[in-house]
Amino acid sequence: MPYNELADFVTLMGGKPYRARQIAEWIFQRGECQFARMTNLSRQFRESLDQQASITCIQEKKRQVSVDGTIKFLFALPDGMEVESVLITEGKRRTLCVSTQVGCKLACAFCLTGASGFTRNLNAAEIVDQVIRARQLSPDGRVTNLVLMGMGEPLDNLDNVIQAIKVIIDQEYQLVGARKITVSTAGLAPGIERLGLELPKVKLAVSLNAGDDITRERIMPITKKYPLAALAKKLEVYPLPQGRRITLEYVILKGVNDSKKDAEALSRFAKKFPSKINLIPFNQTAGIPFARPTKEDVGRFKEWLVEKNHTVMIRDSKGADIMAACGQLAVEGGTDS
Ligand code: SAH
Repeated sequence: MPYNELADFVTLMGGKPYRARQIAEWIFQRGECQFARMTNLSRQFRESLDQQASITCIQEKKRQVSVDGTIKFLFALPDGMEVESVLITEGKRRTLCVSTQVGCKLACAFCLTGASGFTRNLNAAEIVDQVIRARQLSPDGRVTNLVLMGMGEPLDNLDNVIQAIKVIIDQEYQLVGARKITVSTAGLAPGIERLGLELPKVKLAVSLNAGDDITRERIMPITKKYPLAALAKKLEVYPLPQGRRITLEYVILKGVNDSKKDAEALSRFAKKFPSKINLIPFNQTAGIPFARPTKEDVGRFKEWLVEKNHTVMIRDSKGADIMAACGQLAVEGGTDS
């Protein structure tokens, strides 16, 4: 819960207001999972907390470290279900990629998470606790940036995602600032509107992957429900802070969405609102029938967009050797390659 609710709760239990700060420190800074060990609280107060409340803690099951320093965690949720989170180091930045669902309903053709189907939503505490655990397990104890780009579709679990982000950005907890958080969606139009209303400072990324409905439907079935025109409509009115742009993610699949015509369709879509484009060369995984583009393919595609005056970045996905790159996160810890 956000700090003001925690403070109300503590008051309701007859505790002095400063007790809330102590409890917050135990949970969010020290990662404590048991009231019984909060030794600066009276035994009686700890016991009543234990009766009235619970702390959700996820457990590290496995850790893999990539040659590039990326760390992939396998976490067990309280009911034994598992999700993966990935910690990426780039200079001083420590970006944590968190999961929002066990599996995913959207079944994008190129994504391993989608291939495993949907099991359940994560609750807010399970999302927040990925940040707390990852920070404890981070080599230098830091998580500076957060991306909701792990397993699952954040906007398909929006109540819990919004609740989790409100806790994460709460000043009193000092986890991650709103401007350092990116929510990535496959394009669930109604959710985009609500996200903008409730969390305007959080950054928005949309996995576009094709600029025309026919190509997009083939690789992202959600397009049938929310065609590109419906998506564009929400993005055009999205309440962007001054100077901010919406990121369009575009996974390049060789021979599928990498022609000049595809670049032109992407450009037309991207011109409808302030945007920047993030190209992601497809990451190969067993059983997913697409091919990775060559460096030349990616360079050519980028040039077509640059010629049309777009800001274009090529995402250098990290951790592919430990199956931690975009699209490689799977239920049950993935293949142990
Ligand atoms: N469901 C959300 C959050 C997941 S983000 C969304 O779709 O945005 C995961 C990102 O990885 C998305 O941009 C997706 O398009 C991309 N991705 C999925 N599979 C991939 C693969 N095999 N190679 C490269 N990128 C992939």
